[in-house]
Amino acid sequence: MTFTFEPEAVVGVPVVGSPDLYPVRRIYCVGRNYAAHAREMGGDPDREPPFFFCKPTDAIVVVPDGGSVDVRYPSLTTNLQHEIELVVAIGKAGADIPVASADEHVFGYGVGLDMTRRDLQFTMRDKGRPWEIGKAFDASAPIGPLRTAADFGPVAAQAIWVQVDGVDRQRSDVSQLIWSIPEVIANLSTYFTLKPGDLIYSGTPEGVGRVERGQTMRGGIDGLGTIGVRMV
Ligand code: MN
Repeated sequence: MTFTFEPEAVVGVPVVGSPDLYPVRRIYCVGRNYAAHAREMGGDPDREPPFFFCKPTDAIVVVPDGGSVDVRYPSLTTNLQHEIELVVAIGKAGADIPVASADEHVFGYGVGLDMTRRDLQFTMRDKGRPWEIGKAFDASAPIGPLRTAADFGPVAAQAIWVQVDGVDRQRSDVSQLIWSIPEVIANLSTYFTLKPGDLIYSGTPEGVGRVERGQTMRGGIDGLGTIGVRMV
């Protein structure tokens, strides 16, 4: 079969210790999954059910472990913000996945940034409109290489942090997630059939803030390495 034009290539994320790339199918993101961040967004930090939004796969920017890439400052915003997040990579399909077996569906984990045009997101939010223009823009999902679940081990209380030009902005640990990774997988899989290649950006801790042209973010999660992104 041929196509009317050459299709876009599948987006691949490197896997530590493997020559093969992880092929990205969908990108899901969880909103407000750390209590202190829910508060700073003006929300209720109680365990209201998780909610989700999506980014396109070509929002991915692969960052080498420990390295840094340049990303163009996006259009139509004056309030670009960083959200450092634990990213879960799905490795086995499922719908209505029980919490108890959710870990079986995890291929691995990575460090990601859910870059956000906060001004556009809030304009849309306040009008009850979708968040796409605030969240799903080009190069809005930088990510480092994935570690397999076996390599990483259990999600426990690994530190998660991001600095801008060497100054701490966000620092927490992944035990502070309101909805654990198995709970997120279970809930998300009631709405969508999860398939291998699906990435889930699991939410960001408190301390989100602006990043300007010329500034460099460096973020990491213990056991998953670090990524650097300079806005240009
Ligand atoms: Mn986020």
